[in-house]
Amino acid sequence: MIFGFFRLIFYAVVAYAIYKFVMFVLAPRGRMQTRTRAGGPSGVMVKDEVCNTYLPREDALLETVEGENHYFCSQACRGRFLSERKGGSSGAGRARS
Ligand SMILES: [Zn+2]
Repeated sequence: MIFGFFRLIFYAVVAYAIYKFVMFVLAPRGRMQTRTRAGGPSGVMVKDEVCNTYLPREDALLETVEGENHYFCSQACRGRFLSERKGGSSGAGRARS
């Protein structure tokens, strides 16, 4: 009768091992899906040229001027950049190449 008891423990250990194996196989897929979704937007820092502040790209305001992307922390910096661009190009006698 004692062997029956050990066999019961053996089956329990095997069932636990199968359970752990199934969880190990299924778990990485779920992690990778959440990792690709979460890892996409974050991580890239851009510079505000007006106030020299670095901020996440998804929080920045994007303005495309003459094919170049410029990022700003606020509408105030964006407006200041655009007004300086307009004033500089039309008024002063800068040499153009
Ligand atoms: Zn700024």
